[in-house]
Order: sequence, then C-alpha cells, then structure tokens
Amino acid sequence: MRQLRRLHSYRASDPIDEDLRGWNYHSPPIKPRAYLSLSVADVAYRYCDSKRDVYLRKVLKMKGEQTPSLTLGQQVHELIALISRDVTRLLAQGLPAYEVLEVINKKRYNTAFNPFLEKFKKAFAFYLLSDASDSSGFIPLISEFRVDGTPLGLSPRLSADAISQLSMVVEVKVANYQDFHKLALAGYALALESAFELPVDFGALIYVNGINEKYPEIRTEAHYLSTDLRKEFIDARDEVIDMLLEEKDPGLASNCQSSCPFYSYCRR
Ligand code: SF4
Repeated sequence: MRQLRRLHSYRASDPIDEDLRGWNYHSPPIKPRAYLSLSVADVAYRYCDSKRDVYLRKVLKMKGEQTPSLTLGQQVHELIALISRDVTRLLAQGLPAYEVLEVINKKRYNTAFNPFLEKFKKAFAFYLLSDASDSSGFIPLISEFRVDGTPLGLSPRLSADAISQLSMVVEVKVANYQDFHKLALAGYALALESAFELPVDFGALIYVNGINEKYPEIRTEAHYLSTDLRKEFIDARDEVIDMLLEEKDPGLASNCQSSCPFYSYCRR
C-alpha cells in the first residue's frame, strides 16, 4: 500500500476528467446504451480475446466448467476475507502484531489438507501485519465489498475484493500479471463512485503466486485510475453491450487455453 503514496503525484499532473466519474451515470459516456447486468470481468478481462466467453454466458446462458484454477482462486479469496477480518478485529482489541500473527498461524480456516493454502495463510497474515506496522495507523481492508453497478449497466451485485478507506479499490489475482487486470480496478472505481458519490482515484492489484514453489509470492501493484483507464473501461463496456445486443457469436478466440471454463465446448 505504500506504493500508493507515489501515485499522488500522477494525480496532480494528470487529473481525472470529472465527466468520467461514476456519479455521472445519467449522461454519456458513463450512461450505458443498455442495462445488461455485466460483471466487471465480462467487460475488463481478455482471457478470451473474442469475448466469446461473455456471449456463451449471457446469450446462450451457459455455465462454464469449474476448473481447478477457479477453485483455488475462490479458496484464496475466501481465506483473504477471513484473515483480513480477524487481523482487523484482533488489532482493534489491542493485541500486538506478533500475537495476532500467532493467533492466525494456529487457526485452521479452510486450509486443512492444502499445503499451499496453509503456507499462504501465514504469508498473507504477515503481509497484512507488516503493512500495518509500516503505516502511521492501520488501514483496514474491507473485504468483499458489495456495490450496485446497475447505473453503469453492470451487475447489481458487484463484489470488489476489498476497499480501503472508501477511496482505494483492491483486487486479488491468483494469476500472473495481465495488463487488463487494471481495467477491472477502473470498473469497480466507477461503480463505487456511482454508489457513494466519493472519488476513488487509486487501486491495487494483489498478485498471489508461487503455487508450486516453497513459499507463496504476494506482490502488490498500485495504479492511478486515470482518465484514459476509465475511458478504456467504458469503451470496452460499450463494445460488449453492442455484441450482446446483436446476439451474434463472435467466434473463437485466438488464445484459447485449456484452463478456460468453456474449452471443452468451444474446442470439442
Ligand atoms: S475456449 Fe476459447 S473461444 Fe471459447 S470461451 Fe474459451 S477462450 Fe473463448
């Protein structure tokens, strides 16, 4: 989270166009052409570069297969939510950081029988507590923050992985870095702005990796949610809306991976 301090200078030199705040949902370009209850992932993610995955889900109403990487991602998100709540509660009760760490390390959560999750539990608690000790005051993460994205043509049940101080949105990725991940931050920021009419100028991506390594790797990338990034998200949203209104199959992607939940359908 310390990286965010560096981003304040970006905001000063490249201020956000106020027309691209989420609270302007009643007028273009924020106002959508149609309200199709899209998820932020439907808009931002390009794991499928033709967006056929969105077409299959939204037009053909298909459900993808539950892949091992999806399951692991869900387990990690669940664990982060539980640990964040416990760390915040124990620190608020006045426990010193080293005692909080001991409590978390002994707790079982959903980590039984999964050596990676057990190691990740300890690594993430340490990560949170070292951030707490570096800050003048601990800034708790509010995990799984629900927000209504309807005014932007998004889902009424969006769930940001976390927010901090109502001014920074956080996404956790159990995956390697992809340039489009930061687009999701812009999408959540716009939705939060539309709901609370408070500016959300920054975001952070927490990457969890090292699944087959001795120690989990947790890396944070902080981003300024600039005018350009917001425009890119809005343009991507409008392209997805157009595709869905046409109900035309966009065809196969150029980059199908066997880990795609629709792989067995598309590549049969
Ligand atoms: S298998 Fe390929 S075309 Fe089908 S949804 Fe996945 S990435 Fe897209």
